Amino acid sequence: SMGERNKRLLFDQLQQEKNKICADCSTEAPEWASSNIGVFMCLNCSGIHRMLGTHISRVKSCRLDQWADDAVQFMCENGNDAVNAVLERHIPVYYRKPVPADPQVYKEHFIHGKYERKEFASPGGCAHYETGKKEGYLWKRGKDGKQFKQRKFVLNMDEGTLKYFIKPDAKEPKQVISLTSLSTTLAPEKINHAHGLQLAFMKDNLTRQIYLYADEAKDAVDWYIVLRASSFYLIRKSNSQLKDEEHTEPYRKRWFSLENRRLLYFEKPLDAYPKGEIYLGSRSDGFMVRDGLPAGQTEHGFGITITTPDRDYLLCCDDKEEQKMWIQELKWIMTQPLSDQDTA
Ligand SMILES: [Zn+2]
Repeated sequence: SMGERNKRLLFDQLQQEKNKICADCSTEAPEWASSNIGVFMCLNCSGIHRMLGTHISRVKSCRLDQWADDAVQFMCENGNDAVNAVLERHIPVYYRKPVPADPQVYKEHFIHGKYERKEFASPGGCAHYETGKKEGYLWKRGKDGKQFKQRKFVLNMDEGTLKYFIKPDAKEPKQVISLTSLSTTLAPEKINHAHGLQLAFMKDNLTRQIYLYADEAKDAVDWYIVLRASSFYLIRKSNSQLKDEEHTEPYRKRWFSLENRRLLYFEKPLDAYPKGEIYLGSRSDGFMVRDGLPAGQTEHGFGITITTPDRDYLLCCDDKEEQKMWIQELKWIMTQPLSDQDTA
């Protein structure tokens, strides 16, 4: 029957490489879809899509729902890779795409940003995270480890600081945190609050932690992203000299060799010592790989851009197969968690 034929067509789509992981969080074997956007997703993300409303996303189960011919055809013509190529084209480096283990608030924030606010579809879509200024109230856990108290937080990227104040009108901050030493994580479990945040930073050569939560889920994730963006830009700024070199340097042919998380490059294949190396961290720390080169760069063959928190590395392969193989391998490494050895 037509119904069976449509089901078969949909399941064919789900078997294809481009649709094998959820369009939004990369969970394997998605069985849900947005029939007007043209992406396949996991059960959990389908719940978030429902919250967007049907004017943005119409959620259907590939297995349980009835599908009309034109909707099935639309899914076949689109699919995860094609839609993501448009809607995720301009994800900034500091804004990492969710992984299955991420807190629910982060996936919600991403999905709203991607489909409702369309923040990643155009180059300036994330500018509001990059103003380098933010202030507001967050609940901070006290020294006793139990009680949370409301504190005013002020981010100032020009100063390179995040400060917090005990009273809203206080002149002197209780604490001044350097943004370049700050690492922020969403930590709902540690804090036992869905909108929990953990700040870790260096003070007097010791690592200090601050535990916080925000009243609103969106506000917690906004803080997380704005803090990441600010630290990222400050670190990048201090490496700007490196960045300038990279754009004027001509292409040179190098032999590449991958050893765990290090991509080594040699002048000749049998050289004993590499000319240099690129450390490959994880996606969650701002490492990314994509095909093609940034706008304005001439490709010599088939380009690959490796983005690290410090700079972009632009590589070109002689043929498309080679490019595909490298990208697959590099992407895989960046999804692997760091072992203690890697971070030492
Ligand atoms: Zn998902």
